[in-house]
Amino acid sequence: MLDLKKWRRQGKELLFLARELIAPRCCAACGAVTEEGCFCEACRQSYLAHVRETFRPRRDGYTAALGAFGENGAYLDSWLCLFRYEGLVRELIGKLKFQKEERLLQLLKEEAQLALPSAPREKLVAAYDLVAFVPTSPERLQRRGFDVPREIFSFLAGKEKMRPALLLRVRRTPPLYDLNPQERREAVAGCFAVAAPYRQQLKGKKILLCDDIFTTGSTLKEGAAELRRQGAAAVGALTFAASREAAAQAGEDSAL
Ligand SMILES: [Zn+2]
Repeated sequence: MLDLKKWRRQGKELLFLARELIAPRCCAACGAVTEEGCFCEACRQSYLAHVRETFRPRRDGYTAALGAFGENGAYLDSWLCLFRYEGLVRELIGKLKFQKEERLLQLLKEEAQLALPSAPREKLVAAYDLVAFVPTSPERLQRRGFDVPREIFSFLAGKEKMRPALLLRVRRTPPLYDLNPQERREAVAGCFAVAAPYRQQLKGKKILLCDDIFTTGSTLKEGAAELRRQGAAAVGALTFAASREAAAQAGEDSAL
């Protein structure tokens, strides 16, 4: 049987490449010609959460930009965020997720790669046994056609550490953007489960959990809580973008 999804995807990739050949890529913020990602280097700097400057060694050789997060540090041992969730970063993620502008997937992935170059990336991944992702619900995946965190961070590590199917969504959750922190916590409670094949494999493991946006952290914390229930010894988070409010909550406002 023809794999229609695969053909559709390859067609889109070809269109993307053709577009790149015809018209030069321009910075989404200032319009200057740029070769990689959505921004020119100057505009990229203005949106970066200054990740490169805040790598500091810790016992395990790595410290996330924003440090531990969660009640008494119980949920996320560390949290690394690449971009500020504001202005055009916010707009582009919105266009990708809610208006299905799929070409942005490749551009945002390039931005993630530029924000997390190979040396710090290797250091980050070396501190964890496995890399997992906050899963998009099956309904949303069906509608959207792609899983944003999984795609954006697909460059992170080799197959031996990547576990894209480790966490599952076991029930539907409403969109969270209109809810307050308390409502968000309630909305996501119990919405994740570790997939059956992995249940016996997490004991004592350190897991890096990736997501696209960190606003109140309720989704990531719920994912981390489920990983811990299944025996994970540590859970760190990596997010493409985070809001100022989230950084303030983490007690490291200056880092953003
Ligand atoms: Zn620019």
